[in-house]
Amino acid sequence: MSKAEAPEADEDLVDYEEVEPEEEAKPAEAAPKEKAKGGYTGVHSSSFRDFLLKPEVSRAIDDAGFEHPSEVQHNAIPAAMVGTDLICQAKSGMGKTAVFVIAALQQIQPEDGKVDTLVMCHTRELAFQIHAEFQRFAKYSPKVKVGVVYGGIPYPQHKTLIESEKPHIVVGTPGRTLALINDGILKLASLKRFVLDEADQMLDQLDMRRQVQQVFMQTPHEKQVMLFSATIPEGIRDVCRKFTKDAQEIFIDDKELTLHGLQQHYVEIRESEKNRKLNDLLDALDFNQVVVFVKSIVRAEQLNKLLNACAFPSMTISSRQAQPERLDRFKKFKDYKGRILVATNLFGRGVDFERVNVVINYDMPDNSDEYLHRVGRAGRFGTKGLAITFATQGGDKETLQEIQDRFAVKVTPLPATIDASTYMSQ
Ligand code: AMP
Repeated sequence: MSKAEAPEADEDLVDYEEVEPEEEAKPAEAAPKEKAKGGYTGVHSSSFRDFLLKPEVSRAIDDAGFEHPSEVQHNAIPAAMVGTDLICQAKSGMGKTAVFVIAALQQIQPEDGKVDTLVMCHTRELAFQIHAEFQRFAKYSPKVKVGVVYGGIPYPQHKTLIESEKPHIVVGTPGRTLALINDGILKLASLKRFVLDEADQMLDQLDMRRQVQQVFMQTPHEKQVMLFSATIPEGIRDVCRKFTKDAQEIFIDDKELTLHGLQQHYVEIRESEKNRKLNDLLDALDFNQVVVFVKSIVRAEQLNKLLNACAFPSMTISSRQAQPERLDRFKKFKDYKGRILVATNLFGRGVDFERVNVVINYDMPDNSDEYLHRVGRAGRFGTKGLAITFATQGGDKETLQEIQDRFAVKVTPLPATIDASTYMSQ
């Protein structure tokens, strides 16, 4: 990758906090707590055929090119496809979406005008991505209709979608989903499955948790509940259990959480040196796609401008952009029409950019959970990847230490050169 010389590369970026607003909702109580079983992790098995799925689901899995189930799929699909509740922690990028998509499609018996499955997640782009996964696996199930709803696009559009298309599977962000329920448009009286992706994020933020609880209260008592995330901190596990009954629990030891194909390094750096270093790295590294994480929207916009001025074809997506534009850029990057994305934590979780093999933490994440989610954007589904984290003096070093202590991972100083074959998949 080439670039022009740019004196701006030494400028600092200003600081600003990002807030991702969702529609307001009132508090509510969760369902009563039930007993739960112990968890396990295991080694993945041979073939999707072992699950004895419906032919229309099996065929779509074949078409997707999935040959062997990942560990989480092996552990979770057999229980999930017969209606068992699930609290499931799975490494980033190891196929947890397919667990609930396959489980839902395997069980669904579509009835006109009845919503069978509701999936909620924390960002609009993730909702879009999950919806696309449902469509991919429902391609031979012509009677099954799937719809997606999220904030930022005109409400009447979703009203019409729910009322006229009558989807059997609805994917949504909590605010828009709740608004549609409160207006009597989205009816969940016949719901059979309730799924939360990135569950800890959804239950940790109080506002979002309230919205989730309010939606949950509109669903029938008897249903399957499945909760997923790469991280589910102790404190959130009990909250998860309140939503489920006799759930199969799959938790992973923190030490096991990092991705094996991912090489991880840090660079000790001053704030004023970050831009120069980033420029040098983007010049020197071989990458398919790279995500550069910063801590605020303003910093993302400024850094993106700076990179463009340096002739790097970067793009940025943030919650400040109008939703259609935001989604357009998301799709563009997902379709490999952009190679450098400057992002905030909005894209730290869940989203699957298949060809990202390098993640750069221009700003240190706030904590080790956030680090794990961010670097998980590279090295997805067992591919190789590289994560480089800039660490300034002070708090950054503590976070780095927390990461080293918690996970079985060595985040080592960035060497002068790295052999591209160690982080580029063939
Ligand atoms: P997820 O963790 O659900 O975001 O999935 C990460 C990526 O792995 C997605 O691009 C999936 O399409 C892909 N994937 C999921 N399961 C499999 C599988 N069994 N074989 C191959 N690819 C898979």
